[in-house]
Amino acid sequence: MVNKVDHIGIAVHSIEKALTFYIDILKLDLLGYEEVTTQRVKVAFLHAGNTKIELLEPTSEDSPVAKFLVKKGEGIHHIAFGVENIESRLQEMREVGLPLIDEKPRDGAAAMSIAFLHPKAANNVLIELCEKKRGES
Ligand code: ZN
Repeated sequence: MVNKVDHIGIAVHSIEKALTFYIDILKLDLLGYEEVTTQRVKVAFLHAGNTKIELLEPTSEDSPVAKFLVKKGEGIHHIAFGVENIESRLQEMREVGLPLIDEKPRDGAAAMSIAFLHPKAANNVLIELCEKKRGES
């Protein structure tokens, strides 16, 4: 059902500052920046072998990531698994009564359909399912 760890999301106060470590020290390649207005975050994706690192910086105080930073500080925010047919995966999870944050897939960064499961579903880890949108590269 899961084909890979698509990316690991890390909440940061400043992408600019965090990039110093990922680019200068770890020598990861920056894939690009994007703003996800619905989540009020700016993201930067870095290529890390067969997965990616997604740095998340809030653009507003009411962003879910801003709330995360207040509560927990900087750190790992979520793990995203790449799946096929995200709609049916979510439906299977609804049927077994798994707590979900997103009942339906929505638009995420990098032309992906995404959905978050509730941390209660997975040992207090926020899990994202993501699937590349059809017809987009
Ligand atoms: Zn993500």
